[in-house]
Amino acid sequence: MSAPTEAGGGPRLVLATHNPHKVAELRAILAPLVPGLPAGAVVGAADLGVAEPVEDGTTFAENALIKARALVAATGLPAVADDSGLCVDIMGGAPGIFSARWSGRHGDDRANLELLLDQLAEVRPEHRGARFTCAAALVTPAGRETVTEGTLPGTLLTAPRGTGGFGYDPILVPLGQDRSTAELTAAEKNAISHRGMAFTALAPHVAAALG
Ligand code: IMP
Repeated sequence: MSAPTEAGGGPRLVLATHNPHKVAELRAILAPLVPGLPAGAVVGAADLGVAEPVEDGTTFAENALIKARALVAATGLPAVADDSGLCVDIMGGAPGIFSARWSGRHGDDRANLELLLDQLAEVRPEHRGARFTCAAALVTPAGRETVTEGTLPGTLLTAPRGTGGFGYDPILVPLGQDRSTAELTAAEKNAISHRGMAFTALAPHVAAALG
């Protein structure tokens, strides 16, 4: 693992994800808020060789905090983590924190989506409300903890549409749109997404922690 270094040197903030797209997304959101922040100052957990902790929280916020706290303990750097999923109204908010493993196999997006569509097969359009939710957490080495949340509400289709995105994107049509989130461009989705909203709300706190 690389040692933390001072401003202008190595990493100054670590993000609890092994997904390079999420690192790029947070860098882009932070760029205007922290002028002069070198790209290498924001890194993913994988870049520092840190393993993922067990996510045994009962809410998105708890799981995000578990991941961020573990990362601070391992690196001594301020850490940002997020946890997200799809919450279906008629299912009382499920799959929720179980979204990534709803079909029993972690990360099998297609199986998760198909199981959910089967479960909702008899549900009429007016009762197919759902939302993507994201909690983003910042934990500093001094122990300051901040959690922000974002949601993307919409309606679930009865069959997948579109090839973009990931997870449940092909079956959610956001409120006010006529396309599924898998039919939006990445920029269109980021502008309204639960993750974009949660990270944008967290960004000033991250900027303060880096300042
Ligand atoms: P994680 O927060 O990256 O672990 O995501 C949890 C799971 O929620 C993913 O595997 C997806 O099934 C679902 N999910 C979260 N955000 C999105 C999204 O923006 N589009 C589609 N599915 C999502």
